[in-house]
Amino acid sequence: MNRFHRQMLLAAFRPEGQQRLARARVAVVGLGALGTLQAELLVRAGVRHLTLVDRDVVEETNLQRQHLYTEADLGWPKAERAARHLQTIWSEAQLKVHVADLIPENIHELLRDVDLILDGTDNWATRWLINDFSVQQQIPWIYGAAAGQEGRVMAIQPGTSACLGCRFPPPSGQHLDACDRVGVWNTLTTLVGTLQVQLALEHLLGHPVPGDLFRITVHPFQVHRYQVQRNPDCPVCAHHRFLALEGTYTERTLVLCGRDTVQIRPTPPRQLDLASLAEELKKLGTVEQRGQVLRLITPEGELTLFPDGRALVRCPDCTPERAKSLYTRWVGG
Ligand SMILES: [Zn+2]
Repeated sequence: MNRFHRQMLLAAFRPEGQQRLARARVAVVGLGALGTLQAELLVRAGVRHLTLVDRDVVEETNLQRQHLYTEADLGWPKAERAARHLQTIWSEAQLKVHVADLIPENIHELLRDVDLILDGTDNWATRWLINDFSVQQQIPWIYGAAAGQEGRVMAIQPGTSACLGCRFPPPSGQHLDACDRVGVWNTLTTLVGTLQVQLALEHLLGHPVPGDLFRITVHPFQVHRYQVQRNPDCPVCAHHRFLALEGTYTERTLVLCGRDTVQIRPTPPRQLDLASLAEELKKLGTVEQRGQVLRLITPEGELTLFPDGRALVRCPDCTPERAKSLYTRWVGG
């Protein structure tokens, strides 16, 4: 009896569903509460080829709801550690790991050859980027968001269903952007991620997938389902104006809400030699290397540095200007 026996008993998986899952190439963008759950369920179901993209490191407040991670992962890049845990769940899984921010400059390279994209992100800028890419390349994706007590899920099949821009045209409000100042039930993120994976599996198995918008609330628990019509004037899927792919919504500096942290991304990206930089930074404070990231802790603030020059700067009352000046002083201009 093989490891997928219990789902192969289901009619939905016969006759060749398991082979379909083994052949599929799925990208999970963002490995927080939604993405780690999606990746785990997909790997356990037998989706062998996964592309994992995440720009962040594991923080203690993540452990309340993010699957896969343990206390031993604190400070490590999420994509690296998620992959390590997934590999122990299924040693035959083929994982492509990208410790990176998904941006217009790299999306075609990182998501090349995938059949489906799952949204595990926490922000609209990345979602609009995925939506543009999805419509341009005709690759389906499944939007998911959760914050406070409300979550949303919508499967987008370019050319067939409405796209994200039909319902939430950019740059509409930032509602449901996750934020460390906003609470969230761990049951809500699990419900949202689970529904995304259900729709993903249906799609990969070749069954029809509704293009409806699902709205889930907890406390009290309710599920609403709304039909979403294609907008004949949608900037993205009707007029093929891909402003997100052109970089319109991508910020060079980004204040991470509620974390006293600013992300700085040098343009163009630069390749840093973290080993020699670590020696320099030791003169300034405590330096730790965790996988692909370098961490500097000084009385003035903390720096988490990625190999492409991107950095998270944490400082008291951290403004983009303050963070940029610390970055320039520590890493160079
Ligand atoms: Zn549209």
